[in-house]
Amino acid sequence: MVQRKYLFPGVIELNLQAAQSFGVNIYLIDGGTEWALIDVGQDDTLDDVIELVRKLDFPLSKCKMLIATHADADHVQALSAARDRLKAKTGAHPKAASALEAGDTTQTYARIAAQNIDMPMPPCKIDVKLNEGDEIKVGKLKLKVWHTPGHTPGQLSFELGNLLFSGDNIYKDGCVGAIDAHHGSHLPSFISSLTRIRAAAAEFLLPSHGPVFRNDPAILQNAIDRLTKYQHMADFGTCTVSWPLEDEWKRDILAGKMPEL
Ligand SMILES: [Zn+2]
Repeated sequence: MVQRKYLFPGVIELNLQAAQSFGVNIYLIDGGTEWALIDVGQDDTLDDVIELVRKLDFPLSKCKMLIATHADADHVQALSAARDRLKAKTGAHPKAASALEAGDTTQTYARIAAQNIDMPMPPCKIDVKLNEGDEIKVGKLKLKVWHTPGHTPGQLSFELGNLLFSGDNIYKDGCVGAIDAHHGSHLPSFISSLTRIRAAAAEFLLPSHGPVFRNDPAILQNAIDRLTKYQHMADFGTCTVSWPLEDEWKRDILAGKMPEL
């Protein structure tokens, strides 16, 4: 048996535990009599993940749920294989479930043709649809489900006491999860989700990439201010809500006004 390295009571982060990078954060929730994983990572690291869980002396038959924070392939490509091997239920928001069950390579970011990224995305049955306000009971622990769309429509966060598993909403350096129309990013929703996290009682944020950090309203506010500007910048293409320059240009064209130089 390998010595368990708890990040917080009831929480083990598998990269930290293994001193190995799995590409994304994978949280094991230890409820005593049963356990759950928040994300499972990719197919090529699944053997190592399962072997690690076994070495930590968690009975593989006691996996309560394999939870998807959202449908992006880096977090959940291995969900289908993990479900088969652990005989465990999967859980995701309905808007992530549709992409996962279809194995949709565009929405899950498995395929980005222009960058020659093309990884398989095995379709995965989602047994439990997780919605805002639901509770996931893992032994003696209860995870409260938050629907925090913006990065993707099906992005979930999970509250556990003074912790918030915050997915791809915000990272320690103030960056946010990729804003891209292909996987359904929506800037106004993203701002609402960040505003909600800023106001949260949670003392610590446990993101899906990078280190855990203290919930600092200044970090959140900075991201909110940035995204508020993004809503009106052409840089963000079809994710933009409006582009003032284009509105002005159209008005000038219709008014027959020549550009002022
Ligand atoms: Zn993502």
